[in-house]
Amino acid sequence: MAEKYSPLIPTLLIATVIMNRLISTVGYKLRDDPEAIRLASTDYGHILSENPAAVLYPSSINDISSLIKFANNVSVPFGVAAKGQGHSTRGQAMARNGVVVEMSSLRNHRGQHGSGIQVLSSTNINDVTFHYADVGGEQLWVDVLHATLKHGLSPVSWTDYLYLTVGGTLSNAGISGQTFRFGPQISNVYEMDVVTGEGDFVTCSPNKNAELFYAVLGGLGQFGIISRARIALEPAPKRVRWVRMLYSDFSAFSRDQERLISINGRQQSNALDYLEGTLLIHQGPPDNWRASSFFPQSSHKRIISQVTKNGIIYCLEVAKYYDHHTETTVDKELGILLKGLNYLPGFMFGNDVSYVEFLNRVRTGELNLQSQGLWDVPHPWLNMFIPKSRISDFDLGVFKDIVLKKNITTGPVLIYPMNRSKWDERMSAVVPEEDVFYTVGFLHATGFDEWEAFEEQNKEILEFCVRAGIDVKQYLPNYKTQKGWMSHFGSKWKIIQKRKALFDPKRILSPGQRIFHIKE
Ligand code: FAD
Repeated sequence: MAEKYSPLIPTLLIATVIMNRLISTVGYKLRDDPEAIRLASTDYGHILSENPAAVLYPSSINDISSLIKFANNVSVPFGVAAKGQGHSTRGQAMARNGVVVEMSSLRNHRGQHGSGIQVLSSTNINDVTFHYADVGGEQLWVDVLHATLKHGLSPVSWTDYLYLTVGGTLSNAGISGQTFRFGPQISNVYEMDVVTGEGDFVTCSPNKNAELFYAVLGGLGQFGIISRARIALEPAPKRVRWVRMLYSDFSAFSRDQERLISINGRQQSNALDYLEGTLLIHQGPPDNWRASSFFPQSSHKRIISQVTKNGIIYCLEVAKYYDHHTETTVDKELGILLKGLNYLPGFMFGNDVSYVEFLNRVRTGELNLQSQGLWDVPHPWLNMFIPKSRISDFDLGVFKDIVLKKNITTGPVLIYPMNRSKWDERMSAVVPEEDVFYTVGFLHATGFDEWEAFEEQNKEILEFCVRAGIDVKQYLPNYKTQKGWMSHFGSKWKIIQKRKALFDPKRILSPGQRIFHIKE
């Protein structure tokens, strides 16, 4: 697959003379030994591998800025990719023959000075106090959670899995069950420090260098490397009522999901705090690694028998947070919200967990898979946004036809709606035109010689959508042609091109996304 793309830079970069000049620019933080190259040429997908010429382990933002300036000033500029955790699945954080910046290296250096995560407050002219955290782009969300909780505060918008970097998720969007109400993570940023594609260090916000601010949020790493993000915080809850309900009828399931997300005011205390959904399609245990051991063991048999009978069971998952002020009212509020829902009678299950356990629910499953050697395997994932008006057609054509017939799906399949009003059109992220759209994620995990069959299924799903005229947008997008990217960005393509010319004119940043470096 890699052979299809032109190398961004010639092998010239690895010529000793260039390497030596680079070393004199950024010091001996540059490595080109086999271990450094191996680590930077792989990701969570285990589908694609691209060798960089070298890997930078920065100890400061200056190192990154110097590297990018250097990349701009050699006769043939080379690619530079920030790598967060490398949790992309298709080489998005790789830089073939260029330089990968291991952002994790900054964590060690900032840690020493305690400046990686700072929790602060401000009061505006109307005397309203708002809280925020200044967080390094290399920081993990799990560390942001623990640092902010020490102050009784917390971000409001999350991803399901917390061992991702702030810079990595803000380059995509950062979505989870809170998105319908609080927007994606990119909607909860006040300000950023960014190193642009020319190596300039720029502070940006909606009021200052706004074009860069909106470009970088959801910008797939194309316009700058995020070195600091100012994240909105709210008082943290203590515990969570966590409920799952099972449906055999898709229209009842989606109707109930849509009804629940229609109550979505940020300050509306009678709204849910989280809503997602998954498919149960296997006749094995109903839990999966995203939240192991939710369903009581005693109910497994009757859940499995529903799956056997219906082929697919849709699982609606919601959560309501509470603290000592609201612990006496949470059940009443949840009762009102869930009243009249049309799940299968007798198939509502509840749990009560701490806020941290809830947010960090995927970690247990990860450790479990790691211990069985099943974490570092191919992940041919497909994530999409689908307009609400076509979600029933998607259910019929994809879930009930392709997925059920092929019967090869492994790993969770997510499906839940969100409100477009919580996304800011000025950002680079792309979503469908309708007020409500669904995210669907096929989170496959396969054997090393099996992933191609799953890629075939992904292709079939996307082709079905084209044939049926369903205007899907990929999330964590991946296209092999510029035509694909143009159609992905749609009316935003011109602005994306303009932003690239403004902030990264030599097309240095994140070549692994293959937006501007494709050989047609
Ligand atoms: P990387 O994969 O390292 O980088 C991703 C892109 O961002 C690359 O193009 C890279 O060059 C660029 N980049 C990295 N750091 C920076 C920076 N500081 N500044 C600018 N650009 C940068 N996503 C969700 O939205 N919701 C989920 O619930 C969710 N769950 C996940 C669960 C698992 C188990 C995994 C593996 C991924 C999940 N993701 C989810 C996807 C995740 O958001 C992406 O993989 C994302 O890229 C973050 O991963 P990362 O920090 O490792 O970034």
